[in-house]
Formats: sequence, structure tokens, C-alpha cells
Amino acid sequence: ENLHANIGVGHVRYSTAGASTRENAQPLVLNYIKGTLALAHNGNLINAPELREELAYSGAIFQTTIDSEVIAYHIARERVRSKTAEEAVARAMQKIKGAYSLVIMSPRKLMGARDPQGFRPLCIGKRGNAYVLASETCALDTIGAEFVRDVLPGEIVTITQEGIKSDTRLCQKQQTAHCVFEYIYFARPDSVIDGVSVYHSRLMAGRYLAMDSPVDADIVVGVPESGNAAALGYSLQSGIPYGTAFVKNGYVGRTFIKPTQKEGESSVKIKLSVLESVVKGKRIVLVDDSIVRGTTISNLITMLRKAGATEVHVRISSPPFLYPCYFGTDVPSNKQLIASSHSTEEIRQQIGADSLGYMPIEELPNMVGDLPICRACFDSHYPMEVPKQDISALLES
Ligand code: AMP
Repeated sequence: ENLHANIGVGHVRYSTAGASTRENAQPLVLNYIKGTLALAHNGNLINAPELREELAYSGAIFQTTIDSEVIAYHIARERVRSKTAEEAVARAMQKIKGAYSLVIMSPRKLMGARDPQGFRPLCIGKRGNAYVLASETCALDTIGAEFVRDVLPGEIVTITQEGIKSDTRLCQKQQTAHCVFEYIYFARPDSVIDGVSVYHSRLMAGRYLAMDSPVDADIVVGVPESGNAAALGYSLQSGIPYGTAFVKNGYVGRTFIKPTQKEGESSVKIKLSVLESVVKGKRIVLVDDSIVRGTTISNLITMLRKAGATEVHVRISSPPFLYPCYFGTDVPSNKQLIASSHSTEEIRQQIGADSLGYMPIEELPNMVGDLPICRACFDSHYPMEVPKQDISALLES
């Protein structure tokens, strides 16, 4: 009620590059020659260190340690020689490389831009005469806006009093590479991204998992939230009843792996309690979306056994996570990825499961139909040349 305006930008920070400090919070707000510019960024640039150095040598002063400030700086610089703010965004996009979905606000315009490969989602909604840009369609549902369409990879949309305009000059210049991890873990199940329902993709993953890694058991349970739909898919395909073993504490938000304290952080995620009456004396199939370091799943297995489960068979609805991500999935270096240094059998022993099955990489496209995806975290085929330096060094720079 205190905000009397007709444009606004907000951001929920999931920190990858730069620490989780207050000055790194977004939207970034800059005052420059043309007034004020506010910018929020989802994704991760791979050439931010070079660009930052270049700018710093030419006298730029940075207020934050995030890569998004490099984008804001480039837009501000280009703005001086461009006729319009959207032209400045287009020019800045020629310089930045990597994953970025942006919402940018200038005094009279709201702009949205998506990198040419479309790593991260960005969609357009409408409520009455008002346009809305959001990462996920579930945000539109929350405010009663209708989904209009996804912003195209490489597209810049500009919203003014006169309506919406689109610049597609950078579209289809490169093969798109939508992040498959959005479907596996990040996005909410009630979102639809680039025409594919997140819920449906997880359900399909569970079905394929059941075909590839069958097991005799009494009940299939998911790790809330991202494991639930896959667990249901596993149950539907295998005929083993679906059940609820874990109840989530509704007062605790999703906890993320923080850039500065990766170790031991996952256990925080486990704000879950076990329903003893469901698991006691049962052979359980435990479905989760991914194993990163193995801490979460190992704690959950211990909890199930304590509650009287006789067997715990772990099924993971994605392939072994082997390589670091440079495009905004917060996974640090290979060293912390358990699958990059251990065989499946070693992981099984370490987490204390009776059996362990992953989704085979060949099945991954079945999750998302024909959508061209980036799956470099599983096969190291990065859709663009990635920096040679260790990912953690890149993120800290
Ligand atoms: P870990 O304990 O390190 O094996 O973490 C695996 C768990 O963290 C899984 O239950 C996933 O749902 C979740 N997860 C996977 N990737 C991420 C990520 N990038 N940030 C936060 N949580 C994640």
C-alpha cells in the first residue's frame, strides 16, 4: 500500500555467484544518466570475471560481488549511446555470456530478457491491463494472472503504457539448452516451463525409474517436495502402493546450500518427521530427485530404519550428478559431488541403503519430450565453452 507506482521489480535470492549478504540482494538499483534502473537476474554468467576486470580498469566502482552488477553496468553504459533502454539491453546482451533471465525496470518501462539458450525460465502473464513477468508460471497463479507465453530464448520484451513489444533479433542464433535441473529439482511442480509441466516431467521420471530399477517392496515414498511426484510415478508404474513417510514442518522454509557454508548444510533441509505407523515393518522404496553430496538421503535412511523400516531401497529420479554447473545450479566443485568420486555401489554402502538405482541418462529426454536441454551436470557436454578454472573460484570472483 505504501508503493504508489505502476511498475515494480522483486527478487528472491538463491545465491550462486557472490555471498548471501545484504548488499548482494536484488533487485540492483542504479542511478545513472537516464534516471533509475532496477534489475533482477536469475542465472549465472560465465564471463563475469573478465567483464568485471575490464570495467574495473576503466574506473568502474562495484557495490556488490555478484555477476548481475556487471550486467547492470553494461546496460547503463550502452544506454548512453542507445536511443532506447531496450536497445541498451540488446547491446549488453552481445557482451554477456552464460545463463540469464532478467527483469529490468526503467522509469517508464518494464523489460524482460532471456539468454539465447534459454537456460533459465521466464514467462509473461497478464491480469486485466497489467503485464507480469515471472520465472515460474506458479507465480502468475498466485496473483490471479493469466499465462500469456514464455519469453523466447534470446528475446527482449518491453512493456509500457502502450502495451508489449518484442525484439527477437537474438533469437535462434544458438541451439537452445534449457536447464533440465529446473524440471528435476528447482521449479515448483505447479509450474509449466517452455510448454512442459514440471509435475508431469517428474511423474514420467518416476515411471522410467520403475521400469529401469524395479524392486520388491511394500510401499513407495517420496522425499518432500521434489521427490513426491517421481515417487507417485514409480508407484503407478510398479503397482507398489504410494505412501507418505515424511511430514514436512510447515513453518520452516526451503533451506538452500549457502555458498559460504556448504558443508553440513543439507541436514538443515531435513525438517522432516517420520510417520512411524506407515514405515514400521515395511520394505520401502525411497525416491528423491537427486544426490549431491549424499548427506540428505543418508540421514533420511537412518530415520526410516529407526522408525522400523525393514528395507530401504533408494531410487533417484535423475542420473548421477557428476560435473559442476556454470549456469546457476548451485553445485560447487566436483570434489563435493559424491558420484564423481564414488561408484554407485560405494555410494549405496556409504548412505546405508539396501539398493540404489539412478535414472539412466538415456532416459532423461523422456522427462521433457523433445525440449532441447542442457544436461552437462550429468554428461559434461556444456552448451558453450566453460571457464577452465574451478567453478568455486569463478563464483567467488
Ligand atoms: P545432498 O545432501 O548434498 O546429497 O543434497 C541432495 C538434496 O538436495 C536432494 O534432496 C535435492 O532435492 C536437494 N538439492 C539438489 N540440488 C540442490 C541445489 N542446487 N541446491 C539446494 N538443494 C539441492
